[in-house]
Amino acid sequence: MKNNSAQIAPVEESSSADEEVLSIRSLEKSYGSTKVLHDVHLRVHKGERVALMGRSGSGKSTLLNCICGIEPFDRGGVTVAGKCLSELSNLELEQLRREDIGYVFQTFHLLPTLTALENVEFPGQLIGMSAAERRQRANELLELVGMGHRGSHRPSALSGGERQRIALARSMMNRPRLILADEPTGSLDSASGERVLDLMLNISEESDVSVLLVTHDPESTRICDRVVSMEDGQIQEART
Ligand code: ADP
Ligand code: MG
Repeated sequence: MKNNSAQIAPVEESSSADEEVLSIRSLEKSYGSTKVLHDVHLRVHKGERVALMGRSGSGKSTLLNCICGIEPFDRGGVTVAGKCLSELSNLELEQLRREDIGYVFQTFHLLPTLTALENVEFPGQLIGMSAAERRQRANELLELVGMGHRGSHRPSALSGGERQRIALARSMMNRPRLILADEPTGSLDSASGERVLDLMLNISEESDVSVLLVTHDPESTRICDRVVSMEDGQIQEART
């Protein structure tokens, strides 16, 4: 029988640009009697980079913690990569954190006893990636962030900017859909910070990974498509 499948047009993927990687709806969260997040709404599309600005204490880190499921929230919904957090078991939540989200912190959070290469490999180990694949991908990622020659160094032998480039490589290890970056340039000198931001921009563009970038620095928003600001636990759209 004749196979007509070659004549069938492939499924159009143009809608993928509209695909939401993160959707936050009417999110509310209190610590004790103090309301920290009030009716927060935010949508981030595939490949989109959104800067989240706001004063210290306005709720930015709490919001990131709610997005990755390490802080429970009181009301509303969070969907990451098509998965609604409140419908996931603890195991599924853990899986989502490891596979769909990459993290970059102000203070790097590298494991001090592991080399740079082993730090980048580590998330792959958590999801059962083979040793050979881990090593290959980690080496590629180190090259990507200009740290191929530093793989055998421990974090203590690296500068802040170099540590953050390692952390950025690590965040990409498991091919996440979303990177959550909490003031990633906050403890870097401006030249190192610029380099980290440029790398984040390139990685996001090349891999179509979305970024939610918490920053105090208006200059850092240059790599973002959109800026939202948080005031007293509420989000205001600042620029589109
Ligand atoms: P930002 O990251 O914007 O500086 P945070 O999200 O860290 O702000 O904090 C928002 C508010 O929530 C602050 O008032 C802070 O003191 C409070 N807060 C944060 N974490 C906790 C916690 N674990 N327990 C109680 N209050 C907290
Ligand atoms: Mg914070």
